[in-house]
Amino acid sequence: YHAKRTGTHVATYQPDLLRQDTAVISLEADLYRAQERGELELFHQPIVHAQTRALVGTEALIRWHHPRLGLVSPAQFIPLAESTGLILTIGAWVLRQACMHLAEWHRTHPHLSVSVNLSPRQFWQPDLIGTVRDALEVSGIPPEALILEITEGVLMDIPDAEATLRALRDLGVRLALDDFGTGYSSLSYLRRFPLTSLKIDRSFMDGVTGDDQGTPENVVRAVMLLAHALGLSVTSEGVENEAQANFIRSVNGELLQGYLFSRPLPVQDLTDTFLR
Ligand code: C2E
Ligand code: MG
Ligand code: MG
Ligand code: MG
Repeated sequence: YHAKRTGTHVATYQPDLLRQDTAVISLEADLYRAQERGELELFHQPIVHAQTRALVGTEALIRWHHPRLGLVSPAQFIPLAESTGLILTIGAWVLRQACMHLAEWHRTHPHLSVSVNLSPRQFWQPDLIGTVRDALEVSGIPPEALILEITEGVLMDIPDAEATLRALRDLGVRLALDDFGTGYSSLSYLRRFPLTSLKIDRSFMDGVTGDDQGTPENVVRAVMLLAHALGLSVTSEGVENEAQANFIRSVNGELLQGYLFSRPLPVQDLTDTFLR
């Protein structure tokens, strides 16, 4: 009886499992070829000054135009790229592309910066510093125009994170701590690592309505005070309405990013909309 049940169990679930495995394996193979086929595209989302709303730079955000699945979100394929190691070649491509895009914008708007997301996995590669230096050299942008966004996991889990981050700072690039508030970083981490800015995670913005004494507002205000006490500037992600933008300005948040200003855009659209 027991064996029969087990048999039924296997018979019931195996087809599903197989189908799932096949889907993952095929997506992995697809991703492997995506680069050569030019299916990856780097979008950019504007980042604006909280007081003047002038464009100060962009965040580069990857997109995958899959031939059958359409636009696949980075939330879906970055984890796959990380687990397979493909993130190393994709990450190097992203760095180079982002710097090349900025070099083009610098011809008319030399004050702009570009922010690039680094995955923790990229810190395990032997030559992250060399990869960043190459992107700077090939594009010719000044190092301080490049901001590398890292997550709290990098500070926690990478053995020589401190030395690597110092070496990156020595190149002249800036370092932003992304998704701040969602991880586990402690005050001592914020002091120890050579960061230049924090990005408050978008989940903190959700509850902000501009109510001066609301809990979400008080939390955001406290993060601003903390960051500023540590000499870090603050970018607020996920700003979707005027009340949020005004609140952040009132608590001295420096930079804003969110759908209120723009969704992430293809390079040409960003140029046409913001840089003419
Ligand atoms: P992230 O670095 O925190 O990027 C911000 C995400 O918030 C982006 O999602 C952006 O489109 C979205 N966003 C911006 N403003 C708003 C808003 O007002 N409301 C809402 N609801 N969302 C907003 P996206 O482009 O889907 O990227 C998701 C994540 O994928 C990124 O989060 C980042 O962790 C990762 N990612 C994207 N591109 C790259 C890349 O080139 N390399 C690596 N390693 N990771 C990347
Ligand atoms: Mg980011
Ligand atoms: Mg972020
Ligand atoms: Mg985020």
